[in-house]
Amino acid sequence: MAVTRTFSIIKPDATRRNLTGAITKMLEDAGLRVVASRRIRMTRDQAEGFYAVHKERPFFNDLCTFMTSGPVVVQVLEGEDAVKRNREIMGATNPADAAEGTIRKTYAESIEANSVHGSDSDENAKIEIDYFIAPDENVG
Ligand code: ADP
Ligand code: MG
Repeated sequence: MAVTRTFSIIKPDATRRNLTGAITKMLEDAGLRVVASRRIRMTRDQAEGFYAVHKERPFFNDLCTFMTSGPVVVQVLEGEDAVKRNREIMGATNPADAAEGTIRKTYAESIEANSVHGSDSDENAKIEIDYFIAPDENVG
């Protein structure tokens, strides 16, 4: 299996509760390495562009409001099969369905305020990394 990269966001519900370190530790304990990391306040335009795939979904507006409601930490994670490994440690979108020991089971407040984002494919990981992270921020 190859070493690959994925894109992660620690969402506003988590930064508000001072969980940046706790969540990063869970990612690191799962074998992922943080090779880029930046704390930002997402603009509405950035949120709408990032979640454009969900534009027609009923939760789109609320989701963009939530993602701009506080700081987030955008990260690039590297490891063996990083996209899949990150999705495993994140857990299901709805924390009620998430497995024990996952980030969302441990920390998510709701299906919307679910503490973390993770890319769902290698192709989308590349697009999402390029959307938020400049090449010289990927310092390894
Ligand atoms: P994931 O983040 O697990 O890849 P999706 O890509 O389907 O999930 O959805 C993107 C984000 O939109 C979710 O992480 C969550 O914050 C929000 N979301 C998804 N489904 C709902 C829903 N039914 N109601 C409210 N918010 C939702
Ligand atoms: Mg998704």
